[in-house]
Amino acid sequence: MSTFLELGLKEPINKALTDLGYEKPTVIQEKAIPQIISSIDDLKAFAQTGTGKTAAFSLPILQMADEASKNTQAIILSPTRELAVQIGNNIKEFSKYMPNIKVVTVYGGANIEEQIRGLKKGAQIVVGTPGRTVDLINRRALKLGNIEWLVLDEADEMLNMGFKDELDKVLEATPETKQTLLFSATFPREVEAIAKNYMTKPVEITSGQKNTGSDNVSHEYYLVSERTRYQALKRITDLNPDIYAIIFCRTRRETQEVADNLIKDGYNADALHGELSQAQRDSVMGKFRKKTVQILVATDVAARGLDVNSLTHVINHKLPDQIENYTHRSGRTGRAGKTGISIALVSNKEKGRIGAIERIIKKKFVHSKVPSGKEICQNQLMHLIDKVNSIEVKQSEIENFLPSIYEKLEGLTREELIQKFVSLEFNSFLSYYENARDLNDLSSRDTGRNGRGSNENMTRFFINIGRKDSLNPAKLIGLINDQKITNNIEIGAIDILDTFSFFEIDKKFEEQTLSAFADNQPEFSGRGVNIEITKKERGGGGRGKKSFGKKDGGFGRRRNSEKSSGGRRSEGSNRSRSSSRAGGDRPDRNSGSDRRPSGFGRKRRERR
Ligand code: AMP
Repeated sequence: MSTFLELGLKEPINKALTDLGYEKPTVIQEKAIPQIISSIDDLKAFAQTGTGKTAAFSLPILQMADEASKNTQAIILSPTRELAVQIGNNIKEFSKYMPNIKVVTVYGGANIEEQIRGLKKGAQIVVGTPGRTVDLINRRALKLGNIEWLVLDEADEMLNMGFKDELDKVLEATPETKQTLLFSATFPREVEAIAKNYMTKPVEITSGQKNTGSDNVSHEYYLVSERTRYQALKRITDLNPDIYAIIFCRTRRETQEVADNLIKDGYNADALHGELSQAQRDSVMGKFRKKTVQILVATDVAARGLDVNSLTHVINHKLPDQIENYTHRSGRTGRAGKTGISIALVSNKEKGRIGAIERIIKKKFVHSKVPSGKEICQNQLMHLIDKVNSIEVKQSEIENFLPSIYEKLEGLTREELIQKFVSLEFNSFLSYYENARDLNDLSSRDTGRNGRGSNENMTRFFINIGRKDSLNPAKLIGLINDQKITNNIEIGAIDILDTFSFFEIDKKFEEQTLSAFADNQPEFSGRGVNIEITKKERGGGGRGKKSFGKKDGGFGRRRNSEKSSGGRRSEGSNRSRSSSRAGGDRPDRNSGSDRRPSGFGRKRRERR
């Protein structure tokens, strides 16, 4: 292993790196730095985030830049503002003992006049996002005629984001004599096309094996259904009290939904995606970096700008559309010598993609079971006990209070004290998971043991409101919760039809459910609500004959109109189905009482 000086870098750079705590070059730095310094050949580098690639391309540029000239000599393109700013800041740190080096970062969404003023003063190195760079070229504020180095960082992501035209324009505005350095974690066809069209016989280097995952990351997958995906996510989070994770989603909407649900459920989470304003994104990223936010739900692109080295987990809420992006995601954990876990939540349909990913990362996934409520409670309890063991007692600060506390607790034995203290912390948590179902039993959850979405532990109810009353699964769950049948009642399959619906309730609470609705006489969209137990042998879709004529306003008529579209239709048709735990695994929870117990997110928030 060489030193930075041995790679050919001068003392001012070496000194700055020492200040930053960079003791020795990373693999990509060891390969790229001497190559770029010693040769004018173009370079194609396979490098994932976290490998030290920013220094790999910027240190040789700093080494060779002409400090006496104010001309722009290097242009570095990066997909997002955050990443551009990060690169610009890194280069400023690397060049802190090179006073004549000026770096300007240009990006959209910020005052262009200010950026133009910065460029006019002269900057040897410009870092930019593709759109704003082209804008500045068009305004003749950015002159690329003297460019010696063009860096395309995260080239795959720039193309993913639709910057092909902008890249073409920048490439055309630069002289042929320049050295092009292309860094990408994946090399899909479009990136290869850029390399082919704009680079001359590039030298290829890699920061390890192409696309392979880091050795520090272990990979796990959990089998879920669409209905258990979010519940499984929460259980995995609950199993890991000190989790510090990014949950990756494919779309902005999915990202916002997952984050909103987690926040509602009392988790210390936030969303990061392109629909947020720049100020919002900066704020979220700042909080996540400081760990005041523990779980970041993000799109691939938005998360690129985040330089965080200590993630414990990366969770793929859904696998990325482009399987190669899995390496990008999982590479966010297991950095800087730490170990990390990359988790994929996959449905039976998506399971086949795990094999494809294994071939790319050259590692095997472990199939993990969604933890049971009991396992979670046990883990949390042990975690608490470990914390008790390791907590520092600030004697001087508490000693004044101790005598009266001892007095109050005088009558309790050691065992009783421990039991009370554990119960205080865990009663709410234990009851939260008390009726928790096995989420691994997908067959019974998805199709039901009788093939109609119900099982023998559940009772199926008819309810006289439906889609035409603006009912949806979340509202129905809310309505059931409002009846306060019991704490944490388990709600099974839900079928929303046009004018009536069905839901399942834990059989044990059959009677309480009937009487709660009868006593409360709830209304929904101006209609009186009533429920009845259905007879399962009817296939789960219809009510028992006995109650047929009793519904308000001629249920029979409506039922007839549903006949072809509802009652006889198979599961998985256009019925809106959902399955949830009231107060526990509900997808749409608003009431404070549904939040998870305070031993978790809330306390962590206070601590940090
Ligand atoms: P990058 O891949 O450029 O985003 O770098 C990932 C992280 O590694 C950043 O936090 C860098 O500051 C850090 N880093 C890069 N090179 C080194 C090095 N040689 N030694 C220690 N840390 C480094």
